[in-house]
Amino acid sequence: MAVNVKRPNGTEDILPKDVHKWHTVEKIARETAESFGFSEIRIPTFENTELFMRSVGETTDVVQKEMYTVTAKETKFTLRPEGTAGTIRAMLQNGLLNEALPQRVYYILSCFRHERPQAGRLREFHQFGLEMAGSQAPSADAEVISLAKSILDRLGLKNIELYINSIGCPTCRAKYHEALRSYFEARKDELCETCHERLEKNPMRILDCKSPVCQEITKDAPVILDYLCEECGDHFEKLKKYLTGLNIDFKVNPKIVRGLDYYTKTVFEFVTTEIGAQGTVCGGGRYDGLIEQLGGQKVPALGFAMGIERLLIVMDKQNSEFLTPRTCDVYFSTMGDNALEKAMQISHELREFGYRAEFDLMGRGIKAQMKYANKMGSVFTVVIGDNELENGSVRVKEMETGNEVEIALDDKFRANFESLYFNKMMNSLEDDELLNNLTNGENK
Ligand code: ATP
Ligand code: MG
Repeated sequence: MAVNVKRPNGTEDILPKDVHKWHTVEKIARETAESFGFSEIRIPTFENTELFMRSVGETTDVVQKEMYTVTAKETKFTLRPEGTAGTIRAMLQNGLLNEALPQRVYYILSCFRHERPQAGRLREFHQFGLEMAGSQAPSADAEVISLAKSILDRLGLKNIELYINSIGCPTCRAKYHEALRSYFEARKDELCETCHERLEKNPMRILDCKSPVCQEITKDAPVILDYLCEECGDHFEKLKKYLTGLNIDFKVNPKIVRGLDYYTKTVFEFVTTEIGAQGTVCGGGRYDGLIEQLGGQKVPALGFAMGIERLLIVMDKQNSEFLTPRTCDVYFSTMGDNALEKAMQISHELREFGYRAEFDLMGRGIKAQMKYANKMGSVFTVVIGDNELENGSVRVKEMETGNEVEIALDDKFRANFESLYFNKMMNSLEDDELLNNLTNGENK
């Protein structure tokens, strides 16, 4: 029987031709988060299953249907379905919360959820996320939301809406749960199986049910905003004031409850309508009870996560700009073993100085080597044969213009090549400026 060597359903290969897009998102997200005082954290791919049961919540879809769990030597482990639980666990275990607050960390990681694969919904997907622990102030909510917004803006994303809501604290939620229960109790027969259980244990989860019938029923359900206690109400008002002051447009959407149980007070989503049903590119909120729930002190915290695949789908659709992939700076075409050895040595030195240098590793003839260099988009090419070795100099050809400059093959080769390279870069910058001026002129 043939071995199944296809990738599992719901996973994706990220190929070299696309990886610059990932680098773009990662670079911008990192730089933005760091400018807000966040540092990177890296956590394990799997954790004890109990961590997710306790934090994400036993009545959530994630825990009930989507976790990849293995039992190894009688212990249950789960591939992380999200990054918050593991991050908070790591902060607690390593004593970060005893240091200066707020603690601010970001992460880029893959998550695993057993969902029905479709565009923008994978079984292994990637998140950029962050958590801030220590502040209960609404200014922290504004800070985290404006950080997410800055990332989306710097990525050049358009037509993304911000929805915010408050789902209150345990005090206001007790009253709200009562109201929800009596509302759903009256239409219990129409609810799906899972929602029957939710009605008992956690009626707010019904609002997040994906079944069309349940969704229809939730339309007229009581809204949490009418049940907020004074503190939660004030917190939400302040947040709205700060966002307005920052010129961040938002809509209050009382239907947002988020798919994870640990949220309190502020929840938010950035949503686009351009990529169909999987339009939430970023989701987050406050989770003031989580740290205590996981055995730590009572430390308020909040965060968000962005789905990188979804961001890229939107960016592709909107023809966004990406960082240009690095091409080969210089390719050495060689004839004979001595020339090859020389190319090896010079390439080695150039690489030490950060240049991308290549030479033939395929035993190709000179013509085929040049063809390859062309295909690679090499900026410069150099032919080294017996003549060049004898004369002690080579001609460095700029591929775009065909211009050639002779450079001695001595210990100044690298320095001379660098000035050539630098000139070329300066010239193309000037060209760009010229082009900019011309087009600006046209627009005037
Ligand atoms: P959705 O409602 O779309 O299922 P969610 O509420 O489950 O999202 P979160 O747990 O908050 O999502 O995860 C944060 C972000 O991660 C989402 O906004 C989305 O961009 C991304 N994401 C979540 N699940 C998937 C998935 N299966 N495939 C790809 N991206 C995902
Ligand atoms: Mg989900």
